[in-house]
Amino acid sequence: MSNPTLRTRFAPSPTGYLHIGGARTALFNWLLARRLGGKFILRIEDTDQQRNIPEAEAKLMQDMRWLGIDWDEGPDVSGPHGPYRQSERLDAYRAAADKLIDAGLAYFAFDTAEELDALRKQAAAEKKAFKYARPNPLPSRADADRARAAGKPVVIRLAVPHVEMVVHDEILGDVTFAAGEVEDFVIFKSDGFPTYHFAVVLDDDHMQITHVLRAQEHLMNTPKHIFIQRALGFRTPQYAHLPLVFNMDGSKMSKRDKAKDIAAGRLPREIDVHDFRVSGYLPEAIVNFIALVGWSPGQDREKMTRDEMTQLFTLDRINKTSGRFDRDKLLAMNTDYIAAATPARLLSGFRDYAAATNSPLAALDDAKLAAALAACKGFRTFKDIDTKVGPLFAADESITFNPDAVAKTLAKNNGQGYATLEKLTPVLESVATWTAENLDAAIKNYCEQNAAKMGDVAQPLRVALTGNTISPSIGETLTLLGRDATLRRVRRCRETRS
Ligand code: GLU
Repeated sequence: MSNPTLRTRFAPSPTGYLHIGGARTALFNWLLARRLGGKFILRIEDTDQQRNIPEAEAKLMQDMRWLGIDWDEGPDVSGPHGPYRQSERLDAYRAAADKLIDAGLAYFAFDTAEELDALRKQAAAEKKAFKYARPNPLPSRADADRARAAGKPVVIRLAVPHVEMVVHDEILGDVTFAAGEVEDFVIFKSDGFPTYHFAVVLDDDHMQITHVLRAQEHLMNTPKHIFIQRALGFRTPQYAHLPLVFNMDGSKMSKRDKAKDIAAGRLPREIDVHDFRVSGYLPEAIVNFIALVGWSPGQDREKMTRDEMTQLFTLDRINKTSGRFDRDKLLAMNTDYIAAATPARLLSGFRDYAAATNSPLAALDDAKLAAALAACKGFRTFKDIDTKVGPLFAADESITFNPDAVAKTLAKNNGQGYATLEKLTPVLESVATWTAENLDAAIKNYCEQNAAKMGDVAQPLRVALTGNTISPSIGETLTLLGRDATLRRVRRCRETRS
């Protein structure tokens, strides 16, 4: 099955963290290359000066590595078809554009934004689709120089032949674009940079890409790319446009969802791979889940390791229609992955999460951390660990008391909870060896003697120790916290009684 000539690529623009939809595109290209023994290339599309963000390239790479999507050639690992950053290939783009100009297959245009705008308005008024009218004769280089000297923006447009264009898509089948549907579009901008269309075609050819798997929103661009390939005498790679990813409510999943959530006072949804990392997901669960957004191996098979997916991946099992991003399902899948993970994997997974967040548990040694993870059995994400045991490892002063929890468990019935804490203090002090069993036994004994229920004791204690009613079993909570801190916090809580 090894096909050394099969080459796929992922070509992100460095505009921020890796979007989860982008991660799926990367994954599918990676799976195809790995399945068929080809090569997977990472290329950075950084020719849009306005949109580039410093650090974004490093972040994208970090996110891909976190997911385990590695590349055979790319800006940091090099390779025989570099450079792998578009900004380092400007000479090649310019030379190709010159060649097209000389051949009369592309031409200079000098319209200002205002002039183009007026033409568009005129077309709209006449209820016609605006199409750039090719001048005859085509402007010469001397015309372009004069326009430039006069301060006009000089771009290069492709002279698109008036023919029908059929895009053969591996997923969608043949998609036909009528003659004249593609206008003479810009391939070189006035800032001296190629447009996305031009750079992408030159790069795919230079890097000998055989399969282009990319989001369906690029389908409209593909006829343009093929017109450029024909003008330059390049072969056309195989295209596969991937189904879009929608939210469960049918809206398109977008970066703006987060801003919408914040504006509505909701906790922002995770959109970028990095968001899922700081929410405490395991990368193997994310990879498994995104593989299933738009693809399935059949037979209702869902849980798969990366190797299993690599064995099963084929283009013909990619869906034509859009996929839904079911967050509940992702959470359930992550919970399963966590339940099935070895203690060592949980430890390394948590360390990774802690390094990416301000987890109060980052400073724990392995033994303590393993105990904290074991005390939280059944957790869904690493963030749950922070919520459940984080306060036990934070400084006493950082514990703030949740007013509702205080009202319900401590202040109610004339401060019954506070009275319990007072009576419990000598009981706790008398526990000679501070183990979960001894503590549970001492508290049980206290309950029997005072005709109290376990909850009447455990809940006030939890609030005293953590400020809230969420923590592992009371014996485990007290052991994780330790004797001194337990007694200190009980005292501190009683002192805060208002
Ligand atoms: N830079 C483009 C993007 O981020 C790549 C599109 C393509 O794969 O051709 O959408």
